[in-house]
Amino acid sequence: MVIKKLPQIGDPILRKRAKNLTFRDLRDPRTKRIIKDLIDTMRERGLVGIAAPQLGESVRIFVVEVRPTKVRKLELEPLRIFINPRINWKSKQTVVDYEGCGSVLNGKIFGPVRRHKSIVIEYDDIEGGRHKLKATGNLSIIVQHEYDHLNGILFTDKLTDNKKILDYDHYLKMRKDYHKSQRK
Ligand SMILES: [Zn+2]
Repeated sequence: MVIKKLPQIGDPILRKRAKNLTFRDLRDPRTKRIIKDLIDTMRERGLVGIAAPQLGESVRIFVVEVRPTKVRKLELEPLRIFINPRINWKSKQTVVDYEGCGSVLNGKIFGPVRRHKSIVIEYDDIEGGRHKLKATGNLSIIVQHEYDHLNGILFTDKLTDNKKILDYDHYLKMRKDYHKSQRK
């Protein structure tokens, strides 16, 4: 089921620390439903990631997928489902890039955030198997953003410069100008 209205900044659910899932929770059809709702809602809204608290479910699950769109210049990423994730390594090197969020003015506001360039994350799959993934580039940034949601943190908590906040139209224009300058 696609969730039409995501909780927005100011809703206490977005500030709670989400709960780990037990092996029993993984077998619960409710968990499968949450995952399906996350995937459907992410795709319907054109997001590159979404975390369970954004559907009002305070559990440690998020999904990530980068599909091509007309305006998107990100590297494509397959669908990945992260359950009980733990980031256990972060590069010293950091990058600053613009982010938005479906739970902050419905994804219509963007601002610069500093993130670790690379990370290593461990997570469960739905069968309870543990996986390890090293992420760099876009994927690293998206994963850190979604992971923050599980700890009640929003990207607006981490803005490097409030004066650089942009609305949707100015953000698109900035991206377009940037890519134009890259082509020269
Ligand atoms: Zn978000």
